[in-house]
Amino acid sequence: MKAIITDGCIACGLCEQICPEVFEMKDLAEVKANADVDAHSDAAKEAADQCPVGVIEISS
Ligand code: SF4
Repeated sequence: MKAIITDGCIACGLCEQICPEVFEMKDLAEVKANADVDAHSDAAKEAADQCPVGVIEISS
């Protein structure tokens, strides 16, 4: 399972709050280099659902 953040992040920080194991804030949100999305898939999907601009994609 893989997480991608496409263009348009507004740096609200919500994804990191919901799933800090996968997402971290730099200038914009990034997927952590060593993120284990499978181990945190429920929270990662929740972050994708909650992202106010819908730029997080979770795929298998
Ligand atoms: S929730 Fe969406 S807009 Fe907010 S920091 Fe994460 S990717 Fe960016």
